[in-house]
Amino acid sequence: MADTSLNPYIRAQQSFKEAVDTLGLEPAVFDILKQPLRTFEVAVPFIRDDGTLQVFTGYRVQHNDALGPTKGGLRFHPDVTADEVKALAMWMTVKCALLGLPYGGGKGGIACDVDQLSDREIERLSREYIRAVSLVIGPDKDIPAPDVSTNPQIMAWMVDEYSRIRGENTFGLITGKPLVIGGSAGRVAATGRGLVFATRQLATALGLDFAQSRVAVQGFGNVGSVAAEIAASLGAKMVAVSDKDGGLYNPDGIDMADLLEYKRTHRALAGYPQADPISNHELLELPVDILFPAALENQITADNAHNIQARIVGEGANGPTTPEADAILFEKGVMVVPDVLGNAGGVTVSYFEWVQNQTRFYWSEQEINGRLEEYMARAMAEMHKMHERYGVTLRKAAYLVATERLAQAMRVRGWLT
Ligand code: GLU
Repeated sequence: MADTSLNPYIRAQQSFKEAVDTLGLEPAVFDILKQPLRTFEVAVPFIRDDGTLQVFTGYRVQHNDALGPTKGGLRFHPDVTADEVKALAMWMTVKCALLGLPYGGGKGGIACDVDQLSDREIERLSREYIRAVSLVIGPDKDIPAPDVSTNPQIMAWMVDEYSRIRGENTFGLITGKPLVIGGSAGRVAATGRGLVFATRQLATALGLDFAQSRVAVQGFGNVGSVAAEIAASLGAKMVAVSDKDGGLYNPDGIDMADLLEYKRTHRALAGYPQADPISNHELLELPVDILFPAALENQITADNAHNIQARIVGEGANGPTTPEADAILFEKGVMVVPDVLGNAGGVTVSYFEWVQNQTRFYWSEQEINGRLEEYMARAMAEMHKMHERYGVTLRKAAYLVATERLAQAMRVRGWLT
């Protein structure tokens, strides 16, 4: 790969290195954080509907568990690689430490294209994956959750498979489950809600009225569609949205309730009559106040960062902005709510779900949303303090908060000497 900044694993390592250097910490902190503690690559054989056997490659990475059991989602995507999962696990370590959750970072995935699989095939594949990693995960070891192209139903099959292996219901194994088997109120919307919350807070600090803002969202999955709906409910004008097949633009605003209804019936955004088709690339460069990249990595790069017109980029996806692009945006005065805070609402409510599972006492959606705001606001304040103290981007400031906390934990646990 020519541009190493596009390899998220190298980027994650560089971010930790910078944080350790800026804080003047002992080099051992970086030596431990620069790679995952454990990486598992597994073969996942499963039977296709036509009776043939297919084998996919699966991963589970446990980056660092100084603060608690590792935590992080599982993604089903054709581009899943060992390096991508390692980077995503490292980003989870940062997210959990920044939010003050008692977790380390983990991540997993299967390199597969769910569009080519039937629901029954996805179920068999999910169960086989759990069999393959069952010895290394657990409610006090490593707790998976949904990520790109995985959902509560998949989590249900997985927790069922693990419970069968263990011979007991183990709902605390996995988060993002359906409500009826120990899911949490507010979990499905948590990532989008947290993203809107953090972005609105930053907008207010910058003197930008969120309710008057023009917003574009790249990605219409669990994060993007919820963020769009919540932003619209707060009065923002949604001028553009997109999914992997392309986008829609209407400078006068797109009615989110109407679009969501269209998506439900057509299972796609394409063809929606009240907006013009645009490409994903064009969406990023529209004249808007707020841009939410909520799809995949490496969307804002050195090639297009100069053309970004938004005042705030709120990262719903993991790793949508490359370091070169980050520097360009910083120079242009575009503020970025970094992914490690922007999309941390998901793992935060996952933590609440796990606490509810472990205590078997369930909270109302109101309590969940209130606590989510509290956690996000606290992390935002700590990040902002570092941003002012060191004069660095919010992303670098987030790494400083997280790395300091991780270093403290590793030091008292005796890992550094
Ligand atoms: N996959 C989500 C993330 O990247 C959620 C992880 C979790 O809930 O554990 O943050």
